[in-house]
Amino acid sequence: MTTQHRESGGAVLQLQAVSRVHGRGAAEVHALRGIDLQVRAGEFVAVMGPSGSGKSTLLTLAGGLDRASSGEVVIEGRPLGGLSQGAVAAVRRRAIGYVFQDFNLIPALTALENVGIPRELDGVPARRARAEALAALDELGIAELGERFPDEMSGGQQQRVAIARSLIGDRRLVLADEPTGALDSTTGETVLGVLRARCDAGAAAVMVTHEARHAAWVDRVVLLRDGRLVEETVGGGARR
Ligand code: ADP
Ligand code: MG
Repeated sequence: MTTQHRESGGAVLQLQAVSRVHGRGAAEVHALRGIDLQVRAGEFVAVMGPSGSGKSTLLTLAGGLDRASSGEVVIEGRPLGGLSQGAVAAVRRRAIGYVFQDFNLIPALTALENVGIPRELDGVPARRARAEALAALDELGIAELGERFPDEMSGGQQQRVAIARSLIGDRRLVLADEPTGALDSTTGETVLGVLRARCDAGAAAVMVTHEARHAAWVDRVVLLRDGRLVEETVGGGARR
């Protein structure tokens, strides 16, 4: 833990007065307005809100995929604002697992290769990356799909591959944009159970969802409206 991280009270993710404005002049869109949010190790947070309320923008900022117009995003005590693009990319690769709404799998790679690639980029030997990838696919119940290419899988299968990729390598922060959107409800519950277990093991996770029943799995639900955080409620945490 860095000194900065200790000062942040162990929060894995902090958004401090984060705003994001898209476009300029008459075309200006205030996608996020002064968001404050802290997510600690072990916490599973759901982000809900109407379409266009800023949920995906919040997630991309938290994942270092986009930069705040003002305010600061802090990952494990490290403010992203002061880092070079290369340094942000390294934080992203080592600390953050990101599940894109449209999966973002690499079409020319098999499921196993798609899942293992972040590890290989981080210098893990290919054999070990492959073994870890297989374990991650197995956790999501799709070990038998390892040699398939994305276009040989259903949307739900691709979504599970994308989730496996976000979990490999002990990433401390998992960010997922509607990670069950392509899944039937039984498989969706399995995926939520996997994310819950990851948080119980010490990770932090933020999930965008529009399904109210997902609140049963999370510790907190934050509600966005017009780029503002308007409400925060306690979730079921799958235990209480
Ligand atoms: P949500 O995920 O809740 O549906 P988004 O974060 O995608 O909302 O979008 C929030 C607002 O920001 C919307 O009004 C959307 O049109 C706008 N927006 C998002 N991304 C961009 C962009 N790259 N350029 C311009 N406007 C954008
Ligand atoms: Mg969205």
